[in-house]
Amino acid sequence: MAHYKHILLAADFSDHGHHVANKAKELAVANQAQLSIVHIVDNLPITDATYGPIIPFDGDLSEQIMEAARKRISTLAEKLDIVEDKQWVEVGSPKFEIVRIADENEIDLIVVGSHGRHGLALLLGSTANGVLHNAHCDVLAVRLKND
Ligand code: AMP
Repeated sequence: MAHYKHILLAADFSDHGHHVANKAKELAVANQAQLSIVHIVDNLPITDATYGPIIPFDGDLSEQIMEAARKRISTLAEKLDIVEDKQWVEVGSPKFEIVRIADENEIDLIVVGSHGRHGLALLLGSTANGVLHNAHCDVLAVRLKND
């Protein structure tokens, strides 16, 4: 089995996310690897489904969304024992940003769910598929129960 040194968990905060996160953690422990986590704010959606209630009375909505995303990633990172400088929240296209972060941080395994926020209908989610095609390292697509 390949001995991975630095594993990147792509977290979308979907209902299935904890299963993907647990798998990434197990792999990190088994490989004695560093575990990092990334979340991409996908073109700043005007919805609170992913980040919880956001009430933009004033100020910059995009900054509020980023702040909500940072809180969510830090809660998940705490559960997984991931230190702050191994947590990234970026804005853009998830499939490209996940790969960019992986390239810039010498990641040798990216862990994604086989589907996420875009639902069961797509089976291998568009993000998982995009990461698989663009990545320069190994990618594990964690098969989710309903696939
Ligand atoms: P999807 O393409 O939305 O079905 O998502 C498939 C998998 O890609 C998810 O289970 C996550 O691991 C990952 N993913 C999707 N969207 C994001 C995102 N915005 N940030 C980080 N990872 C993501």
